[in-house]
Amino acid sequence: MYPDSSSQSAALYERAKRSLPGGNTRTTVYMSPYPLYAASGLGCRVTDLDGVERIDCINNFTSLIHGHAHPALVEAATCQIQLGTTFGMPTPSEVYLAELLSGRVRSMERVRFMNSGTEAVMMALKAARAYTGRPKIAKVEGSYHGSYDYAETSLDAEPSNWGEQAPNSIAYARGTPQGVLSDVVVLPFNDVVKAEELLRAHGPSLAAVLVDPVPNRVGLVPASKEFMSMLRRVTKDTGALLVIDEVITLRLAIGGAQSMYDVVPDLTAAGKIIGGGFPVGAVGGSAEVMGVFDPSRGRPPVPHGGTFSANPVTMMTGLTAMQLFDGAAIERLGRFGDRLRSAINVAFASTGIPGQATGVGSLLKVHFHNRPITDYRSAFPTPQQQRLMARLTIKLLNNGVMTASYGLIALSTAMTDSDIEQIAVAFRQALTEIAAEGLEANAG
Ligand code: PMP
Repeated sequence: MYPDSSSQSAALYERAKRSLPGGNTRTTVYMSPYPLYAASGLGCRVTDLDGVERIDCINNFTSLIHGHAHPALVEAATCQIQLGTTFGMPTPSEVYLAELLSGRVRSMERVRFMNSGTEAVMMALKAARAYTGRPKIAKVEGSYHGSYDYAETSLDAEPSNWGEQAPNSIAYARGTPQGVLSDVVVLPFNDVVKAEELLRAHGPSLAAVLVDPVPNRVGLVPASKEFMSMLRRVTKDTGALLVIDEVITLRLAIGGAQSMYDVVPDLTAAGKIIGGGFPVGAVGGSAEVMGVFDPSRGRPPVPHGGTFSANPVTMMTGLTAMQLFDGAAIERLGRFGDRLRSAINVAFASTGIPGQATGVGSLLKVHFHNRPITDYRSAFPTPQQQRLMARLTIKLLNNGVMTASYGLIALSTAMTDSDIEQIAVAFRQALTEIAAEGLEANAG
């Protein structure tokens, strides 16, 4: 049972505190009183240091589309490791993966690789600034795009600071320069009228509008068709570039979430699943815009290197993962997602706890309220709802299911019907326990 102060994970955490700040190297995996350390993973299951096995619904924050240690991916990685892991030379593998992405995602005529989604978004924004010669970017309130100063603006805005008339630009990291904040226009998600008004007001200085069509931290509800078409129309009118962040959503359709909207962005940021479990990021776009990276005519407008960018272990494993992730796999995962969403909603209804599961296809998110969710503000949880989420996460762990602490679930192709059923049973059990203890009981 978690927490257990006599566990190996608890002991290792004490040791970790002596070499890592707060014992932690990724804020996203921080857990109090201690994190569970992973020992190994196979298929859709992870075993922790104490030998406890659980179904993995985190999948390294949506990146492991085939779960852990898929035999074909192990083979692809191993073969490449034997040939060398990284070179001060390009390798054929970068061409293969770029061709696959261009073949699938219409907007990605040319592709460039890097090592994380953070870098992909950063390079897309730098490309947009170079291409347009303008300084500002617009992004959606609450939307996560990695750690670049501009892209993380207003990530955790709250009622006390988010602003009335138009969303404020709120620093995420302390010390963010004021200049960064004044170059970011924050948009209300799915509010076509207000967002258009803001975009037009800043039109002449806008380099890019950055949008994730199904933003996890905004409640994992999809952008409306009207919102996406407005962004395309207004960016065309004002001369800004439309940048779609598909770091998470590329898994939703062969052509990415953008294909579900029939919107062709100028630039697309990708990451996570395209690395087959290894660190990765990619930017793609029209040949013309991507020309800002082209060194063949002298110094490019946006020079970009990266010691490990396009390393062949990532490229070959990513290529194999993407080849295995076909339309049938997407459809099967979508069915699993729909089933689990409705099972969770039924569990909420039958225990009388206010709550709902949102999401699209293989991505799900749990909320402890029944409000219709359209944007960051309508999704925003109260402190009590946050405490309930913490209790649910621990109860799920103790019922054999690992989910992200803020209620995110990402399915993998390693899951079967019976795994989905097991996750649903764990939810019913966890919510029944919460109902029995009362909504105000303490976590743990
Ligand atoms: N964009 C989105 C939509 C993301 O979800 C993430 C990571 N969760 C990123 C960008 C940043 O990717 P990375 O963690 O690889 O830097």
